Amino acid sequence: MNADKVIFSHSKPDNIEPIENVPLRTQVADRLREAILSGQLPLGSSLVETALAEQLNVSRAPIREAIQILENDGLVETIAYKGKRVKPLTVREVGEAYSLREIFEVMAVRRILESRTPVDALHEHCHDMTAAAEAENFSALTAADEAFHRTLIRLADHDLLMASWKNLYLRIHQIMAIRNRVERDLAEVAMNHPPIVKALEVNDADLAITLITDHTRILAALDPTIIVKQL
Ligand SMILES: [Zn+2]
Repeated sequence: MNADKVIFSHSKPDNIEPIENVPLRTQVADRLREAILSGQLPLGSSLVETALAEQLNVSRAPIREAIQILENDGLVETIAYKGKRVKPLTVREVGEAYSLREIFEVMAVRRILESRTPVDALHEHCHDMTAAAEAENFSALTAADEAFHRTLIRLADHDLLMASWKNLYLRIHQIMAIRNRVERDLAEVAMNHPPIVKALEVNDADLAITLITDHTRILAALDPTIIVKQL
C-alpha cells in the first residue's frame, strides 16, 4: 500500500533543514488560495497581475501561473475583456457542493462499515473540535472539522473518492469562510461528530448513515441566498 513511500524514502539526518525547493508558482498559488478561502480576497474581486506581483514581491510570470492553477481548481474565472477574478458563488453552486458532499461522505461511511475499518483516528479530531469550541477558537475548530472529514474519506480507502472530495472541499471551504461570518455555534458543530464515530464503532449502518446525512444537511441548511447576497 505504501509502495511509493518505500521507494522514495531515504534515510536523512533529521537535524539538517531541507532547502525550500517548492516552485514559486506553487508558493504563490498557496498564498492566493489562502487569501481567497479566508475571504481576504473577496468573491468577485479582480486579480490584477501587476498589483499582486508588487504585493508578493515576485515577477508577473509566477503570478500568472499561480492564477492558472487556481482557475483549474475552480476558484478563479476569466471574464472576457476584463481578466481574472475570484469566482463568485451562485445559489446553485452552493446547493450542488453540499448535495455532492453528502453523497461522498455517505459513500465513505458505507465503505468503512462494509470493510469494518477501525475509526480510532477520528477520536483525535473530535477531541480537537471540543477543545477549539471551548476556547472559542473558530479557525482551530474549522481545521479540526476538516481533518475529521478528510480522515473519514481516507478511511474509506478509495483514491478517486479522496481526489474528488479534496477538489469539492476547496469550494466548501470558500462557502464556510463566508457563512461563518454570519453563524458561529462552535459547540454545536463539535458535538455533532462523536455520535458519528460511535455509530461506526458499533457498526450501526442505519444510524451512521442517518447521522452523516443529517450533518451535511445541517451544514447546507443555511439559506444559500444569504451567502450569495454578501458578494
Ligand atoms: Zn463536520
